[in-house]
Amino acid sequence: MSDDKTKQAAANVLTRYMTQRNMRKTPERYAILDKVFETADHFFIESLHGMLAADGYHVSRGTVYNTISLLEDAGLVRRRTFGQRTAQYEKIIGASNHHHLVCSHCGKVTEIKDQKLDELLTERRYGSFQPSYTDLYVYGLCGKCARRAGKSTIAATHKK
Ligand SMILES: [Zn+2]
Ligand SMILES: [Zn+2]
Repeated sequence: MSDDKTKQAAANVLTRYMTQRNMRKTPERYAILDKVFETADHFFIESLHGMLAADGYHVSRGTVYNTISLLEDAGLVRRRTFGQRTAQYEKIIGASNHHHLVCSHCGKVTEIKDQKLDELLTERRYGSFQPSYTDLYVYGLCGKCARRAGKSTIAATHKK
């Protein structure tokens, strides 16, 4: 799907969701949705709020929080904590299947594609359980931190 088509598809889902629940279809909600779908990667609510402001779109932090939780309920974004205190979010529609490498030192998250692993996971069966998606996090040290670790004590805390 092209970016515009993805955005349109997401907006349709949101409209349907809000119509079913008699929610007000405020322009703020659609503006936030647009920004989320322009964002390639994972984002923090704080950084999304900053990006909107940088575009000259001033909405309160509260509105951003509420809208993201609405998008989460509508199945448009997914919450990720990556073992950190502050959650990040990512869009679901238009995003291809991927897994995450999480640096336990600096918190950097890198998306990876692993077709072999996906094939393996698709074949897995766990009794009568019906899987809808698989979320795999690989924790460790990113290249930068690993290089630094060679020169400091970081490595010690990551060795078991
Ligand atoms: Zn790192
Ligand atoms: Zn991701």
